[in-house]
Amino acid sequence: MKIATRPEGILEQQKRLLLSLRSTREKIPQVTMNLKTLSSGFGQKLARLECIEKIEKICAAENYADFYEAVVEIFELDAVAFRADVGVFRNLVNLSDQATVLLTMKSYIDDAIIPEEKADLAKSEDFIRDKLDLESFLADISELEEVKKQFEEFKRRYGPLYQIHHRDYYAKVRKAREQLNSIAGKVDTIVNMNTLNLNLPASKAEYYELLARMKECGLPDPVPVDTSSICRGCRLTLIEKHDVNEVNSLVKKVDENLKLGMNRLADVVTRPILDLDKEKKLEELMKTIKSGDSTRFVKVLTNSLIEHLMKLSEECNIETIRVSFSKFAKKYAIVEEDHVEEVVKAFREVLLKEVENAKRGKPDRKIRIALGE
Ligand SMILES: [Zn+2]
Repeated sequence: MKIATRPEGILEQQKRLLLSLRSTREKIPQVTMNLKTLSSGFGQKLARLECIEKIEKICAAENYADFYEAVVEIFELDAVAFRADVGVFRNLVNLSDQATVLLTMKSYIDDAIIPEEKADLAKSEDFIRDKLDLESFLADISELEEVKKQFEEFKRRYGPLYQIHHRDYYAKVRKAREQLNSIAGKVDTIVNMNTLNLNLPASKAEYYELLARMKECGLPDPVPVDTSSICRGCRLTLIEKHDVNEVNSLVKKVDENLKLGMNRLADVVTRPILDLDKEKKLEELMKTIKSGDSTRFVKVLTNSLIEHLMKLSEECNIETIRVSFSKFAKKYAIVEEDHVEEVVKAFREVLLKEVENAKRGKPDRKIRIALGE
């Protein structure tokens, strides 16, 4: 308080003091909450928070006498200590006022992962990260101005880089989806062909798993990077790369398996079956297999054609059974030249045993073996 000579002056000063105590008291809950959020956002404990409690007690005063009593009780008339705590409190309030700015900067910098080749940008990020220290802002909030400038400069360089990355990444994902969509029919056809016991490796689960992963972000391009360094929709980082090979190799595998299926089907449709096909329903299928046109093949081999083929096989009294080759290969994984005959014999026995089992009770049946994995 200033030295006042007139009693009205003293009263005026007391009134003003009480008003300022009340407005400070009203501010404290928000300040405390902001500081708590800052502390957890930065993972830093703030020192000297206890001074808020002391100031809060003093601000609870409803009149000048209460105020004086609280100061005496808490600071024991130590004016230096009182002034110091008021100073710290002021700094805490200043820090709390900047909570949103500080937290935005912190999460922006934390989420921005800079690729190795952008050494310059990484350096500027490290510089800002080091400067983002609550204690140093608490000691001197004016330090924040320089950090803000650095941060804006960082954003100016980082932002477009990220937006381009996001765009390119999803352009590749879109292409991958298109590629996968274009082989959906082939994947289904392979599964359907296996109802004819063709023992083909089907990649259906792998296909749908990959398709699920090729998800688009959905946010319009360019994505905003003003308050968040990664897209809020998909949280893609700047170092994530789209793996083109994954989809390409699945496409290749499906193509190969379909070709394998076409060849196996050609073996299955034997002369006796074709002779029974009076309506020549299989003619186009055989032509397509011969031409090797897999896209056409997928269209021609309908479910009803598969049923027709099964019916004809039935009429020919042919039954196809599956025999797993991999089980056998596991048992005889390595064969010395002296033992070749032994292995051949064992394999012959496996096949004959399967045929015998399949013929049990149906001696007229012609058994066809589909060897597979
Ligand atoms: Zn996104």
